[in-house]
Amino acid sequence: MTGTDLNGRVAFVTGASRGIGAAIAFSLAMAGAKVGVNYNTSRESAEKVIEKITHGGGEAFLVEGNVSEEASAGAAVKQVISQCGQIDILVNNAGINRDRLLMRMKIEDWDEVLDVNLRGTFLCSKLVMPQMIKQRKGRIVNISSVVGLRGNPGQANYAAAKAGLIGFTKAVAREVASRNVTVNAVAPGFITTGMVEELSEDTQKQILDKIPMGRFGSAEDVSQAVLFLCGDGASYITGQVITIDGGLIA
Ligand code: NAP
Repeated sequence: MTGTDLNGRVAFVTGASRGIGAAIAFSLAMAGAKVGVNYNTSRESAEKVIEKITHGGGEAFLVEGNVSEEASAGAAVKQVISQCGQIDILVNNAGINRDRLLMRMKIEDWDEVLDVNLRGTFLCSKLVMPQMIKQRKGRIVNISSVVGLRGNPGQANYAAAKAGLIGFTKAVAREVASRNVTVNAVAPGFITTGMVEELSEDTQKQILDKIPMGRFGSAEDVSQAVLFLCGDGASYITGQVITIDGGLIA
């Protein structure tokens, strides 16, 4: 069996300047895709992602843009299509959290989290769709979370956004299945990136006790599943959610 081959494909990964998005961009590029590495504020770290890809023999380019703003997301998608003439893979990874218990949650905390995680995914997916339909080929992978499947205290906004992504994934998968465009989601558990590293040591230990595999996931654990969903081996899979959590919610 050979690995996933993405030679000749063009991918756009949102929020790829660090963490899981950076690992996804790297994995797709190492499989042969030309990758648009999107960042919103972290230009320098996005440049480092590109350096790492180039050093590994892959191809990547910078795409600035705030996915939650229509004009900015539009300019980003337009850049990818005009620069490469096609877009085969969209990974909606950009995400933020603003955790607070519901009673203390500010309206802005709610709006910002829904805007980046859910509205951003809606905008980028809508923007790439005409091109994917024209090509009669496309892959969209949305990065949800186990929190969207089972909730988590202090994350009502994030859980709503990530659960919303699952409904969105299934609805759009049904809409575009006949056009050979697949739409899937992955739901990571606790992955060692900025988001998990910000948690206190006590909280980290409490979480670890609940993970049957006894470790946090790595960004590569997620990127490998995304890579699979983007490859030819997954061409008959659509509307699905793959949980990547070391057994946490098994
Ligand atoms: P991270 O390290 O905090 O990185 C977040 C990325 O999103 C950054 O590249 C950031 O770019 C980008 N971003 C934020 N707002 C954006 C916007 N408005 N437009 C474009 N890009 C934006 O997060 P992570 O842990 O890698 O998480 C990546 C995804 O996985 C998120 O959707 C997250 O919800 C999900 N997830 C993470 C975990 C986990 O345990 N880490 C678990 C489940 C799901 P800039 O820095 O350039 O602004």
